[in-house]
This record gives sequence, C-alpha cells and structure tokens, in this order.
Amino acid sequence: MAAAGHSSVIDKAGLLIIGGGASLFYFYFEVLLQGSHLTIFITIGIILLISGCTQVLVNNINSSKRALQEMNETLEQKVKDRTEELRNSELKYRTIFENTGAATIIIEKDMRISLANSQFVAISGFSRREVQNRKSWLDFIDDKGQRTLFGDETPSTGALSIVGGKYVGCQFIDKLENRKDVLITFAAIPETDASVASFTDISELKEAERQIYFQAFHDTLTQLPNRALFVEHLTMAIKRTKRRPDYHFAVIYLDIDRFKLVNDSLGHSAGDDLLVAFAERIRESLREIDILARLGGDEFVVLLEDIEADDYSVAIAERLQIALRKPFRIHGKEVFAPASFGVVLHTQDYDLPEAIIRDADAAMYHAKESGRSQVKIFDRTLHEKALHLLQQETDLRKAIHKGQFQNYYQPIVRLDTAALVGFEALIRWPHPQLGMVYPGSFISTAEETGLIIPITRYTVEQACRDLKDWLEILEGNLELTVSVNISSRHFLQASLLNDLRDALEASSLPPHLLKLEITETALMVDSEETMRLAQRLKDYGIRLVIDDFGTGYSSLSYLQRLPIDTLKIDRSFISKIIDQPENNRNIVEAIVSLAHKLGMTVVAEGIETPDQYAILLDMACELGQGYLFSPPVPKSQADQLVQQLARYAGESGCVPYPLTTWLAN
Ligand code: C2E
Ligand code: MG
Ligand code: MG
Repeated sequence: MAAAGHSSVIDKAGLLIIGGGASLFYFYFEVLLQGSHLTIFITIGIILLISGCTQVLVNNINSSKRALQEMNETLEQKVKDRTEELRNSELKYRTIFENTGAATIIIEKDMRISLANSQFVAISGFSRREVQNRKSWLDFIDDKGQRTLFGDETPSTGALSIVGGKYVGCQFIDKLENRKDVLITFAAIPETDASVASFTDISELKEAERQIYFQAFHDTLTQLPNRALFVEHLTMAIKRTKRRPDYHFAVIYLDIDRFKLVNDSLGHSAGDDLLVAFAERIRESLREIDILARLGGDEFVVLLEDIEADDYSVAIAERLQIALRKPFRIHGKEVFAPASFGVVLHTQDYDLPEAIIRDADAAMYHAKESGRSQVKIFDRTLHEKALHLLQQETDLRKAIHKGQFQNYYQPIVRLDTAALVGFEALIRWPHPQLGMVYPGSFISTAEETGLIIPITRYTVEQACRDLKDWLEILEGNLELTVSVNISSRHFLQASLLNDLRDALEASSLPPHLLKLEITETALMVDSEETMRLAQRLKDYGIRLVIDDFGTGYSSLSYLQRLPIDTLKIDRSFISKIIDQPENNRNIVEAIVSLAHKLGMTVVAEGIETPDQYAILLDMACELGQGYLFSPPVPKSQADQLVQQLARYAGESGCVPYPLTTWLAN
C-alpha cells in the first residue's frame, strides 16, 4: 500500500512535469506563431493528445510495475515456504536417522563415514568428530565380514548397493578392539554415490543361538559332547584317514561296571554326581585334542585323534583303567567306579562312524563278559559274533510271533523205584533253516534282549497245558509235576508271579504241581529282593528248585533263609562220581546230607550209567534224571509214556511204573 501511495505521488509529479513541459512548449510556439487562433487550437489539441498518451503510458507502466511487484512477492513467499519445507524435511530425516533404533551411518563412495547417528557414535567408542569424515566404515568390520561383503573385489559402495536390502552378519570392532555380533543392512541413496548402513546388535541372539547349539550337541549333566557331536567328530576323523594315510585314530568305549548298584543304593543324585566325577577323571587323563563324549547312561566314548601307533591307544586305555582304581568321594562316601573298555584300533577299515561305535561297544561288552574292569580290543570274530547276535534276535522275535518254540520233556524219577514223578520242560527251537536249536545257544540272547519273558510265558503255558493232559490220562490215580526253568533276569521281574498264576489258572492246575528251577547265581543277585519274591511264590504254593547246584557260590546261611524245596545237583558232579571219585563222591554226599538237614529233597541230574545210579541210590538221593532213564522227548513221546504208566497203574493197583521197565521195552 505504501508503495502504491508512493507511485501516485510520482505519477502526479510526472503529470505536472509533462503539463509544465507542454506549457513551455506552447509558450515558445505562441511566441513563434504570434497568436493565430488555429494554431492555438492545434497546439492545445496536440498538447491534450500528448497529455492523454502520456497518461495512458504512465498508467500502463504503473500497472506493469504493480504486477511485477505482486509476482515478486508471491515468488518470495514460495521460496520462503520451500525453504521451510526443506528445513522441516531435513529435521524429519535427521530425527529418523537419529532414531532408527540401530546404529546408522552414511557411507561415501570412498568408504568414508560422512554422517553417523548417536547410536553409532556410542557403539564405536569414538567421538562424533573422530568418526565423521575421518574414518572408513571398514575400520569397524572384521576381516571375515569384509570377505563376505566384497570377496576379492575392492570395497565400494557400488558393491554395497548390490547387497542392499539383505542382512549381512559380521563382527563389529570398537575403539577398544571389543567385538560384538551385528547385522548390517545397506541401501543405496538414490542419485548419489553414497549408501546408508544400519547396524543391529545381535550379540544376545547369537548367544542364545550358541546356547541352543550347545544344548543340541552336549550332554546336560556332564557338559560333554553327546552322541550327535561325537559322530560328527568321528566322521571328520574318517575323512582325514582317507585323505592322509599316515593319520590314525582310535576309539575307546567305556561302561561303568555295576553303575546300577550306585543308583539303587545311594540314590539317583549320587549316581549323577558319580557320572560327573567319572567324566572329569577320564578327561584329566586325556590330551586336549582327544574327544570324550557321553553316549547316555553310564556309557562314554573317547576319540583318540592323530595317534602314532596302536600301542598308544592301548597304553591310554590302561592309564585310564589305573586312574579309575582310585575311589570317588560321593555324598560323603567312598565309591569305586571301575569300567569295562572296548577299543577299536583299525579305524581305516571303516566308512561309517556308527560302525566304529557299534564295534567298540561289542568289544566293551566282551570285556564285561570276561570279568569286568577289562580292556578288550575289537577284532573280526567279535564283529561276526555281534552280527550273529543281531540276526538271532531278529529270528527270535519272528519265532515268538509264529509260536515256533516247542517244549521237550525229560522224565524225573524216584531213584528207589525208578518210578516217574514228573517232567522237566526243556525248550527247543526247530529253526526253519538251522534245524533244531538247543537252549544253550539262544537263551543268553533272549535274556539280553528281554525276549526271555515272552518265551518263558509260552513255555510255562505249554507245560501247564501238557501236564493237564497227562493228569487227565492218569484219571487221578497218580500225580505228576512239571518243572520249568526260569532265568535269572526273569526271576526278578514283578510280572513273573502273574504270568505263572495266569498259566496255572488257564489249565486249572493247583500251584504245587508246578516247580521253578532257578540257578544258584540267579538267587544270589539281589538277596533282599530275591528273598521277597521267593517267599511270594512259595506262599502262592509254587515249589522252588535250585538248579545246577554246586556250580555257584551259595552261602549256606543264605540258602537256609530261602524257601527252597529241592536241590538239583549239577551234572558235572554226577559224571565225575565214577571218573574222578576222590573228592566228587564226598562233595555229592555232603550236598545230599546238607539238603536233607535243611529239609530239602535232592535231584541228581545227568545220570547216564547204572553205576552212577547205584552210587546215588546208596547215598539216599531221592530223585534223578538223565539219559539212563530218558533223554528229553517231544510231547507225543511223553504222552505215550504217561499212557503206559496209566495202563500199568490200572493193572497193578496204582503202583508207579518204573522207567527201567520202559527202557527194557
Ligand atoms: P538244565 O536246566 O540244567 O537242563 C538240563 C540239561 O541237561 C538239558 O539240556 C538236558 O537235555 C541235559 N541233560 C539231561 N540229562 C542229561 C544226561 O544224562 N547227560 C547229558 N550230557 N545231558 C543231559 P538242554 O535241554 O540243552 O538245556 C540246557 C539248559 O538250558 C538247561 O539246563 C536250562 O538251564 C536251560 N533251559 C532249557 N530250557 C529252558 C527254558 O525254557 N527257559 C530257560 N530260562 N532256560 C532253559
Ligand atoms: Mg533245569
Ligand atoms: Mg541243570
């Protein structure tokens, strides 16, 4: 407005000047033309015209000036607005840059950091001034990370824009050379040579990842590598052997002897402590590069890496054995933890880690069988044995499924009359390929695999059914018993009494007609538990026989406390009565008199000759069995014998049928 007022004053002054000018011009003109009227009119007209034109011109100039001014003002406003906008935008992006939640930098083409946010400055350990425009961002990245990003190429923002958007994990190195795991993302800044990079601290995540990895490959109790990790180490060792023929390694499998005893007597927490202490003791005796792993339970395995000769691993195994001779102190008690070792030396023959572990295990097992605390080295025969056992287990399972087992029966006689009093059931396995298989070659596998339980169940059921048949043939004129063999592992199973009861009830037999033959060693396993189980069986009415008596180490006082009906003298003593009479006759006599003193009857097993029979008769041994009377026979033959017995009893008024007569037939 003020400007407009100003211009109108100028306009008016302009008009005055023009008017003044025109008047002067008129004055001169009049002087020149000396008062002609026409001339005056013309002059006035010209003056008016000039004034009019001048006025229009002035007006135009003024309006252009105003328009220009207005335009100028709008432009000025726009510039102001734009500047304001830019300032706001810059503020906005700066705030975002500062608060990305991650340490963020702008990297120039030459790798220089041109801008760093406070978080970056904080993690770098430098001041902002030291970082910005002074440092290359590569100063903060470990070599491995740089290789991941650029490979062999020269670092450039161009290469970074290729990885743009992707996460790259590497280690961040701060001023004090501390390292932390970070994840970096890059983005090229459009239309510039610069890139923006942001760093997220993932140390905690990495730590969690490390923990998860550790747990997946380590045993939680001992912190040792577990089977999975051991297999990985073994795989690498196998690969190394294939590449370098001079590289040798060996594997030792360790199993603590009678570890169960510690668990059962001192409790599981003591058992756990012993495992930890055991692992420590073994670890101490190994080199740094050797790997000790826990496979589970009380089973450990050692990988001896890069050894020179086979003797070395045997020496190590012996050193470990010696280390284990010292007791452990567990829960204030001294505990010994000897172990059995199986060693695999010729590892170059293997392609699979599992095969080495399997064979070391087989050797360890062999060490256990040969009397514990031993070191056994694996050889081919053991492998064949292991294969045979595996095959036998499969075959046994099939045989159980198909009901292939058969009971044979060996008569038991009263020695004074040679009359039949019962049968011992002896299992047979008519194998489809191998022919008749005897219990001596499969019972131990059945025991180890637990298959003895279904097998015994079958034997007992069959024996009860067969005895029922014979009793029916005898029509109550005579009573017979049936004896079944129960293996040591099965005897301690709580399910045994139920299985026996079921079998007896299914055939409606009174329990006293069933006898269980248990070996001395079976009865010695866990004295308290054995005593309890034996008493329960006895209370139910089943009778107990100690089989193979004389071969174990029964203490007499212990025997006295057991509810035993019969002692069965082992065959080895009977055969020696004639061949080596010196001590054996006395031993048998002592057993017979001991049994009688304890109120037990005696059975002599394996009577093969009339001489043996005569001597036993002389010793007042009540019962006997052996080839002299009859070998074990299939059910059909036992049926025939019982039928003869029934006929004889009918004819001679219930007098028992002497087996000697049957033999004579
Ligand atoms: P055992 O219970 O001591 O059985 C006696 C073994 O001596 C039987 O061998 C029998 O055939 C054999 N024998 C009998 N009389 C004579 C003889 O006069 N001379 C000779 N040389 N041998 C004689 P078998 O049938 O091979 O059984 C061997 C062992 O297998 C049995 O010894 C028993 O401990 C076990 N066994 C047999 N059947 C079963 C079963 O069903 N379950 C379990 N757990 N073990 C069984
Ligand atoms: Mg027997
Ligand atoms: Mg026997």
